Amino acid sequence: MRAYVAVGTNLGDRWGHLAHAARALRTEPRVAVLRGSRVFDTAPVGPPQPRYLNAVLELEAELPAPALLEALQRVERTCGRRRTGVRWAARTLDLDLLLLGDQVIRTPELLVPHPGLITRRFVLAPLAELCPDQVVPGTGQTVARLLAAAPPGDVVPIGVYPM
Ligand code: ATP
Ligand code: CA
Ligand code: CA
Repeated sequence: MRAYVAVGTNLGDRWGHLAHAARALRTEPRVAVLRGSRVFDTAPVGPPQPRYLNAVLELEAELPAPALLEALQRVERTCGRRRTGVRWAARTLDLDLLLLGDQVIRTPELLVPHPGLITRRFVLAPLAELCPDQVVPGTGQTVARLLAAAPPGDVVPIGVYPM
């Protein structure tokens, strides 16, 4: 099934973390990394912290949603992600499962489509490069429409995905 994963990083070697995310996902069984969006330099949300690099990866994943989430969290850990308990704190690597085919999942551990996707320009801008015409389940709107309606934000493309 086609999956879109948001990649975010604002600590340490940020370009290195982006490259590591693509490389590490490729080593996961039943996961193929197909394409990456451009990389965007973005203002942080939440507590004061350094600016982010944000991008989206397109995957082909032949595994159930909970196993895919586990794989994403495993890759976060191999990149030195430590959970501090502070919401939206600075991190080496954040991998959010945005879309998984046309599935809607609402469990305590996993919400798909990712709820932040609908309003976050720093997610919609890279996602719209990969699948502008994809309808986001539950909204009836395409990614391109959601991006056009998203609040303004400091989201600037600065390079191609390192992979
Ligand atoms: P946000 O989700 O608002 O972007 P965050 O990425 O900082 O915030 P995390 O601390 O990385 O939040 O994750 C908190 C929990 O979110 C994870 O433990 C995971 O179980 C849950 N979660 C729910 N839906 C998803 C999803 N689609 N992708 C990744 N994690 C998710
Ligand atoms: Ca996130
Ligand atoms: Ca996350």
